[in-house]
Amino acid sequence: MSLNSILIELRVPKQDECSWVASKKNSVMYVRLKFSLLLICLLLVQFMPLIGQENVQLRDIHFDPNLTEEQNRFLNRQAHVLLEYSSGLLEKYPPLSKAQEGRESALFLLDAILHEPHAMKRPPVQRFLKDRLTNAINEIAYTKVEKGAKIWKLYNHSFVVRTSSVTIAFDLIRTQSEENMRKLVSQCDILLISHEHGDHWEMEIVRAFLEQGKPVLAPPSLFRDDDAIYKQVTHLERRSHWAEKIAVKGDKVDLEVVTYPGHQWGNIENNVSLIKTQEGIVVVHTGDQWNMNDFEWIDVVGEYFEVDVLLPNSWTADIARMANGVDPKVIISGHENEMGHALHQREPFWKTYLRKQGSVLLPEKDKGYDYPLVMMTWGEAFHYSKQDFH
Ligand SMILES: [Zn+2]
Repeated sequence: MSLNSILIELRVPKQDECSWVASKKNSVMYVRLKFSLLLICLLLVQFMPLIGQENVQLRDIHFDPNLTEEQNRFLNRQAHVLLEYSSGLLEKYPPLSKAQEGRESALFLLDAILHEPHAMKRPPVQRFLKDRLTNAINEIAYTKVEKGAKIWKLYNHSFVVRTSSVTIAFDLIRTQSEENMRKLVSQCDILLISHEHGDHWEMEIVRAFLEQGKPVLAPPSLFRDDDAIYKQVTHLERRSHWAEKIAVKGDKVDLEVVTYPGHQWGNIENNVSLIKTQEGIVVVHTGDQWNMNDFEWIDVVGEYFEVDVLLPNSWTADIARMANGVDPKVIISGHENEMGHALHQREPFWKTYLRKQGSVLLPEKDKGYDYPLVMMTWGEAFHYSKQDFH
């Protein structure tokens, strides 16, 4: 059929043809046409919800209504390429307690990729997070620590600290799969939960620890509505500078644990935990500590304990003052790029960096501090050794 004949077929019917149709109203053909139209209408009504769902799915793929399909695809490709580039830099400049421009650039690049409203929905970002955490959990499964402590940063403010005698988990969440979660929990001896917010604990993880007979420590405000869990969780007294013994590994290993009575903002109980291992390694994890009155005890932690590693939430109140009070050998910041937080509250590495430098660019006009700082992203690890930090 030629193009012309197709055009002729598709042309608008002439007036006389329409009148021909009108004149044949009762013809069999017309009845069939009517029946077909009715059938189509019925089918449309029947499947309208499905068509709606398909549109919703399409919108999910093309999740940002402010972007065209092409713009969305471009940002996915850009995330893929820049995350690969950043990963390469992070491998080339592994976590150290000294400044490294290559490493800082890689982390700032992550900030930029992760600070768009729908970043977490981008497939390359999801892959990046899942791969990094899976690799870290596999690494934890085969790593033996002879001396010092190896410290993995997982998602958000989750940390795993391993010495030659024990493996301690803080605020574990989002392990990315059931398999990862089971593998990780089987590698840890104790879980400490700082406070009630959902970016610091998960019920499946708590249950997995308890099922394996491993202690779970949490503030009294947590699990109040679940009697069975509440009874199994250990609630240490929130008391400054006062160490309690906790037995792990079936009573074979003792830990000294201080539960400082911290707070997030005014009234949320937030345990700031100090743990001393049998090797004499002292680690402090702050949870979401942010409270000016608590400086009453924060200011003097260093007078009671010789702290090796401080793991603060990067946005805690006056990090320089906290560093001076705790007086650690090294600081490893946490809680950067929590993707569940609104974009402007998703704390970036560039802020952690500026808080250490001291900068008028920050609203708090931080004065800066001299303590060594290690910045790590999801799945990275730092090996701490006392000899490196006299
Ligand atoms: Zn938090």
